[in-house]
Amino acid sequence: MFLVIFVLLFLTGSVFGNHWTYNDEGEWSNLCQTGKSQSPIALTRSIAILKEFHPFSMHGYGQSTTALLQNNGHSAEVRLQNIEAPTVHGGGLPGTYQLDHLHFHWQSEHTMNNYRFPLELHLVHFEQKHRNLSEAVKHPHGVAVLGVLFDLSLDDDEDFQPLLEIIDNLKETVGEPRHLKDVFSAKSFLPRDKGGFYRYQGSLTTPGCNEGVIWTVFTNTLPISPKQVKIFEAMQTEEKTALTKNYRSLQALNDRTVYLRVSPMRSSATSLELSVMLLGLSVLYSKLC
Ligand SMILES: [Zn+2]
Repeated sequence: MFLVIFVLLFLTGSVFGNHWTYNDEGEWSNLCQTGKSQSPIALTRSIAILKEFHPFSMHGYGQSTTALLQNNGHSAEVRLQNIEAPTVHGGGLPGTYQLDHLHFHWQSEHTMNNYRFPLELHLVHFEQKHRNLSEAVKHPHGVAVLGVLFDLSLDDDEDFQPLLEIIDNLKETVGEPRHLKDVFSAKSFLPRDKGGFYRYQGSLTTPGCNEGVIWTVFTNTLPISPKQVKIFEAMQTEEKTALTKNYRSLQALNDRTVYLRVSPMRSSATSLELSVMLLGLSVLYSKLC
């Protein structure tokens, strides 16, 4: 009898605690409860310290390649195939990091200036000196995640369509990767201006919540339509329940520092706006006098 119960628990993943859902965050494993550098957090200008990081150097993200997409029961996950993995360095990162995979959260995990976006993409990287992601998570600075926030737009984002067709097809099928029909390019899912971003030290946002993850969340967003967001929301978990949301609640900042790099493009736009405003004021002033 005990053996039967054990086998059942083993099969459902309950024995080793690898079975978790977004409805039972309070029961997530150790570090998720006790960690002091957890993610996600609320990103706001008022708590951030401005810092001039070097720009990012990104290589290979523009390659068009085949990709596998799967519903892992917690998210939609994309793995690039048949290419040398794209790499990133600079941007204040302490080494060179290679792309492992991409996955999505709906709604966003990080909030920016107290706003929760409809979608957040995580491009998960590991430091090249480690063999793979599972090895890298054990080391400080072993993992770097680039986060991209999506804002609602009236029009569909064309780059999303091939991905969404597959997501729609496998919404009820957990753990069975499918090939994307069209080629995939990670670059289409990064903002064109990557000069502005928040930076802090955090964790994985799913169990075991390993810390030592360097987070970058770009301040420039990409568009997505409400219709496209609905396709993500229709995905199902292993238990065939709707995965209507898959974001972890905000975590305490504790004694961490959040840095903000302001895009030079944005600040030049701001200074242009300022000069236009000053010109307007001086015209008004000259008319008054
Ligand atoms: Zn994630």
